This record gives sequence, structure tokens and C-alpha cells, in this order.
Amino acid sequence: MSDAMKEIETTVLIVGGGPVGLLGGQLLARRGVKVLIAEKYLQRLDSPKAHALNPRSLEICAAAGLPMDEIHGVATRKADGARVWMMETLSGPPIGSIAYERQDDAVRSVTPWPLINIAQPQFEAVLERAVLARPGVTLRRGLEWQTSLQLADGVTSTLQDRVTGEIVKVRSRYVIACDGAGSAVRDSLGIAMDGPEGIANFMTIHFEANLRATLGDRLGILYFLFGPGLNGTLIAYDVEKTWVLMHPCGPDSTPDEFDEATCRAAVLAAVGTPVPDLQIRGVKGWKMSAQIARTYRDGNVFLAGDAGHRFPPTGGLGLNTGIGDIDNLAWKIAAVEAGWAGPDLLETYEPERRIIAQTNMGQSLANTFRLGTLFEALGYGPDRTVDEATYRARLADPESRTRIDDAVTFQKDHFDSLRLQLGFAYGDTLKEDDILPISQFTPKCVVGARLPHVELTDCRSTLDLVDPDGLTLLAGVAADLSSMPDRLGVPLAQWLEGRDFAVGVDTWSVRMGLEPQGAVLVRPDGHILAVTSSGGPDEVQRLTVALSTYLATPVAAVLTGVT
Ligand SMILES: Cc1cc2nc3c(=O)[nH]c(=O)nc-3n(C[C@H](O)[C@H](O)[C@H](O)COP(=O)(O)OP(=O)(O)OC[C@H]3O[C@@H](n4cnc5c(N)ncnc54)[C@H](O)[C@@H]3O)c2cc1C
Repeated sequence: MSDAMKEIETTVLIVGGGPVGLLGGQLLARRGVKVLIAEKYLQRLDSPKAHALNPRSLEICAAAGLPMDEIHGVATRKADGARVWMMETLSGPPIGSIAYERQDDAVRSVTPWPLINIAQPQFEAVLERAVLARPGVTLRRGLEWQTSLQLADGVTSTLQDRVTGEIVKVRSRYVIACDGAGSAVRDSLGIAMDGPEGIANFMTIHFEANLRATLGDRLGILYFLFGPGLNGTLIAYDVEKTWVLMHPCGPDSTPDEFDEATCRAAVLAAVGTPVPDLQIRGVKGWKMSAQIARTYRDGNVFLAGDAGHRFPPTGGLGLNTGIGDIDNLAWKIAAVEAGWAGPDLLETYEPERRIIAQTNMGQSLANTFRLGTLFEALGYGPDRTVDEATYRARLADPESRTRIDDAVTFQKDHFDSLRLQLGFAYGDTLKEDDILPISQFTPKCVVGARLPHVELTDCRSTLDLVDPDGLTLLAGVAADLSSMPDRLGVPLAQWLEGRDFAVGVDTWSVRMGLEPQGAVLVRPDGHILAVTSSGGPDEVQRLTVALSTYLATPVAAVLTGVT
């Protein structure tokens, strides 16, 4: 080894300190797993990108021990981000408007954490502070991954310090590629992406301006522009300061063509009125794709977040899906490392998460195509252009106006997707729900689903009872805990209704559709591993088998006769 080469040992190397990588560091280190996060940039990129953190992502953040008050403190004001507008230009006139997801108090019956809007760098800043304060995880900025070599006992990776040029060797048991859509780790493994690349091309122009007065009472998080020759989308992370214009462009356009003057002209056309305090902060090319990695795993290297999937932004599902990925993977690695699950548990990561990415990608694509109905109603042709006269005539004609209004209403599923956010399940126990509108979410206590949230009398949620470091058994008031599977060498937190927790309305078991003797076994990520509705011996045996098979532990195999 040359003098200029350093060697580091860690359990997990996370490549990429974006939101998914940072959260991965937090989730693993919190469970006692040693992590190095290597991020190639010295400073966080300030391009805002994602804005929506959905309820499931926020539940995961809360369970990860992140400071929820800080996250909410830097989020978009609820009243500012509660609607989506279809406009000619930002200053008017409006074509239609629709509520943006469930941010009202009614949704608190199914989640403690309603959706919020937050600019991605603000979220990353909270994550980074949490990670830096946590022992067991090291974040090294300016460290770029170059290669990995898989050996029998782990992975040896080569990285380079971009400031000093120093080569750093990292020996780890696992590598998690969180290096984004253009993942070099994925490419080095030869993992193909399935699905179309380059469906549309945009320049994302990040600008600052206070547009509150321009908006008046037309406050919203998203503004889809339909005026002839415009067709961009504005994202209002903070109406008084932080905006992005997603400006459609050709496949060969480069940011170099978008100098300051061109960006200003594009923003002013989109706003439709002078913007005296306009400041262009940056411009970046962005290719809209709908692709999923053919596999999420090669040996001990895993893909998570955009490294595993690239979605159209219509639906706000890219980052949210990545958060679900890393939540699913982190507890499994921790359980294998702690010895209470066998290495085969890691085989469950890809089948559980890849299908979720497929569903979310399908929805994101459907949302993109759904917007086409509004373009059509406004007179646009297949090439997404319209002449001024046709456009004006459509708006003036009462019959066309009805079609336009219908097309606006038709966008509802794009902006009301609670079932997609909270109602997904690992396995096929909720398959029959697929025919329901994605806005229609009824929590169900079935295997694979996330444990339904029920508010406890002490104001906590049942989700707060889930132990991140082991399994959790929630049992009805008449359950016999001594008959439950506590002999498997698996950390098991037990909560008995009446003794350890209580709910205000009915009983918990009634609300879960269980007998009072029933119980639910929950994974560290809050998803249900097994249910016994009556607590009978057969059911308890079934629950034990489900647990042992899933966790793939040798001790479980002996107990259940599975070898
Ligand atoms: C305009 C826009 C709006 C969006 N809105 C939403 C939304 O509302 N909701 C939503 O869920 N998603 C949204 N998305 C998608 C979201 O931004 C991404 O899904 C998210 O950034 C993915 O996070 P990630 O951590 O997987 O990857 P990234 O954020 O891309 O992070 C990857 C990190 O890896 C680092 N890296 C790359 N290569 C290396 C290397 N060789 N060595 C070390 N480090 C490396 C990069 O520097 C980067 O920091 C939006 C995207 C855009 C463009």
C-alpha cells in the first residue's frame, strides 16, 4: 500500500450522501451498525428538487428518531402548499385548481403525520445534522466512490478524496448504493435499467423571488402552466423565496444554452408579470425517465433510492419510494448483523421493494398521461403545441369549457394518493384493493401491511410501540402472552392491551378486527409479520412458523421442524 493510501473498516459503506443515503446512515447507526457515508460533493447542492414528504415517509422519519419539530419548522407553510393550480401563466388566469393531498386534520385518524412540503436541501440539512450527532456513523464529504470488489467475506471499495487526491480503501461487509439516478455503482455491476429513458426533457431553473403578492389568494405548491407556448411547471417551495421552473426543452439542450438572460426570460414568461426581485440561482438539465433496475442486489451490494428507480416527478414518489427502500433494508442488515436473523432475510429486500417501485412508477406515468387530457381539452395537438386562437376559442366555448373542467377534475388521483402512500403491503394480501381509487385508503390489519395507526389514550400512536431493534407483539386484552413465540432468540417487545396500552374508542383488538385473544407480530419497520386473530394454539403455531421462515434463523428452523 502506498503512503497516500488509507484503509478504513466499517460494516456498511453507503455511497451517496443524498437524502436516502443520509437516512440509511441514521437508521443503521441507531441500531448499532457501523456506517461510513461517502458523498462526492463537499457541499450540499442547493437545487430544491423533491417537495413532498408523504405520511409514510414522515412516519419512518419519526421512527428513525429524527427531530420532527425541526422538519416541520423548515417545511412549507401548510396554508401556502395546500393546492395545485392549472394556470395560463402564474399571474393568471386560472384554468382550474385541486386540493393537494390530505393535509387536513381528518387524515390524522389514519396517520400521526400528514403530508408536508419541504425543499429537499432543507430536509437533507436536518438529516445531516442528525447523522453528524450520532455515534457509529461517519459522513465524509468530498469522497468519491470509484470501484468495489466483492470478496468472500465482504466488499473492498476504492474511493478518492476529491480535495487531496488521496485514495481510500474501504473494507465493509455491505455496500449500499444511494448514489442517485446515474448510479456509478449500479453501472459497475452491469445492472440494466428496464423501462423508457428520456420520455421528456426539462431545464430545472432554480430562482428566488417573492411572488406572494402576484399570487394573491391563489396559493399553492404546484402550478402547471398551459398558456400557448409555455407548458412548464412551477414548484413553490416557499412562495416568498424559493421556486423552480421545470422548463420543457429538447433532448439535446444543455444548461450552457440557458444563460442568465435565457433563464430570466423563461421565468418572466411563466410568471406573466414583471418580477423586480428575480434572482436566478441555477439551472440543471433533467431527463424524465420511467425505469427500474433489473435487480436491487448483487452479492452484498444493494441499490436504494434513485439508484434503483427513476420516476417522472408527477406524483412526488421518487424520494418517498427511496425512503421506503432504505427503511426496509436497514433493519434487515441490522438483524443479520445482530444475529437474530439469518443472511437469507436479505433476500426479501428486492421482492418486497421492487414491486412497490413498479406500482409507484406506473402511477407516476399515469399521472403524466392524465395531464394530456387537459392539454387536449385546451386544443393542444399531440406535439404539445397550440395556436393562440384555438386555445382562446376553447376557453370561450361553453361546451369546451365543460370538457376542460372535467379534465381538471380527472387529475384528482394525481394529487390524492393516500392508499399508494400508506396502503401498500409486502406480499399480496391487499391485492383486491388494486381496483379501488388510490385516494381510498382503509387501514387493514393484514400480513405485510403497515401496522394501522390508532391513537392511544396517552396521545401516542400504536406506531410508537414498534421496537426498531426487534419484533413487537401487540396483543388483545385477553391474549395469553405465555403462549406467544418468545423462545426464538429474537428480541421481542410485548404490549398487552389494558396492561400496557389503551385506546379511547372501542378496544384495539376490535378496531383491528381481532378477537380479544388475538395478537399481531410487527417487524422493526412497522409492517405486520403475522396475525393471530383468536390466539388459538394452531394460530400461534402458524405465527411461529411465519416468523421463523421469514427471519431464516437456524434456531427458528429447529423449533418449527423446517430444516
Ligand atoms: C424537480 C424535481 C421535483 C421532485 N419532486 C419530488 C417530490 O415531490 N417527492 C419525491 O418523493 N421525489 C421528488 N423528486 C425526486 C427526488 O428528488 C429524488 O427521488 C431524490 O433526490 C432521490 O434521492 P437519493 O438519495 O436516492 O439520490 P440523490 O438525491 O440523487 O443523491 C445521490 C447522492 O449521491 C452522490 N453521489 C453520486 N455519485 C457518487 C459517487 N461516485 N461517490 C460518492 N457520492 C456520489 C451525489 O452527489 C448525491 O448527493 C423530484 C425531483 C425533481 C428533479
